[in-house]
Formats: sequence, C-alpha cells, structure tokens
Amino acid sequence: MRPLPELLDRAAALHGHLCPGQALGVRMAVVGCTELGIEDPETAKRLVVYVEIDRCASDAIQAATGCQLGRRTLKHVDYGKMAATFLDTKTGRAVRVVALEEARDRAWAYAPEAQDKDEAQRLAYARMPQQELFKVREVSLRPPAEDLPGHPRGRVLCDTCGEGINDGREVLRDGRLLCRACAFGAYYTPRIEP
Ligand SMILES: [Zn+2]
Ligand SMILES: [Zn+2]
Repeated sequence: MRPLPELLDRAAALHGHLCPGQALGVRMAVVGCTELGIEDPETAKRLVVYVEIDRCASDAIQAATGCQLGRRTLKHVDYGKMAATFLDTKTGRAVRVVALEEARDRAWAYAPEAQDKDEAQRLAYARMPQQELFKVREVSLRPPAEDLPGHPRGRVLCDTCGEGINDGREVLRDGRLLCRACAFGAYYTPRIEP
C-alpha cells in the first residue's frame, strides 16, 4: 500500500474534506489489503470491497483501493455499520474489518493536542494501533458470477414496464420476467403527468 499520508490526501480530494471518516476508511483499506496480501489494489485488479455504510469512510475506502461502484468492485450493503469486507477474487479469501465502538472514546489519548473532538478522532484514527481500532475476521463470501466485474451477463426486458435489466436482476413470476421494481414495488412512486 502507498504511505498513509498519500492515501489520506487522495481520500480528502475525492471526498471533499479530511474528516475522521477519511482516516478510519483509509486505515480499514490498509488493514483489508494487508490481510489479503494485496500490495497495490489498483494494479492487482482482484479486490472487491463490500462497504456496509454509505458515509464518509466509504469514500476513503474507494480512494485508497481504487474500487468503484461503476467498476463493480465496490458494493454497498445497507447495514448502517462502520464495517467493510475485502474479497480477493483470485484466491477467494475475504476479511471483514469492523471499527470498534471503543475507538471513539480513546481518540483523545492519541491526540491530546487536538482542538476539538473531530480533530482528535481524525488524528487518532491515523495513529492508533490496529487492534484498538478494528476487529478483523476472515469470512466466507462467494459472490455469484453476475455480481462480479466484467461484461454484463445477459440483458432482458421487463414484461411489465419494458425497461432493460442487466446481470440477472430479473424475477420470474407466473411465467413473466419482471424487473424488481415491478415485482416488489419501487423505491419511488411514478407521478401521473398532467
Ligand atoms: Zn467526511
Ligand atoms: Zn418493470
């Protein structure tokens, strides 16, 4: 991995500011890649990361690993947890890294010079030993082929709305192929045009 200050710079540039989440996310990425033995995730092209929250740290993980939603190498699993799983698609090994709740309270001990809590956490998360920041566990994870990077595996049209569906996300119901919005209800409500 590149040196921490360089990764923090990258994270701040992508995310828009240097916050505690950037320090935490960058550290998570370093731990995940190191545990998997991936020295440079961007050139190795074998890392897929599952982030469990859509907040600051997820941008830092993207910046530090080069994994991106649009490349299918960054997945958002909506658990609302400060955690991420790093999968080596070449070896099949995966490690889940969870930020420890106690780390918040210990921040001041590692950054006594900080002016406020935000700065204390930002500095401390870059300094604290790994064991005080994270729980790291090897996990099993076998993503289906249609979740992985590469060309789309198939494309069909929804029998109800006619919109195209990539990568096997369609649902077969009573002999009809439906998109998930038509099958389960959408996250939006269509408006009737005047
Ligand atoms: Zn932030
Ligand atoms: Zn549909």
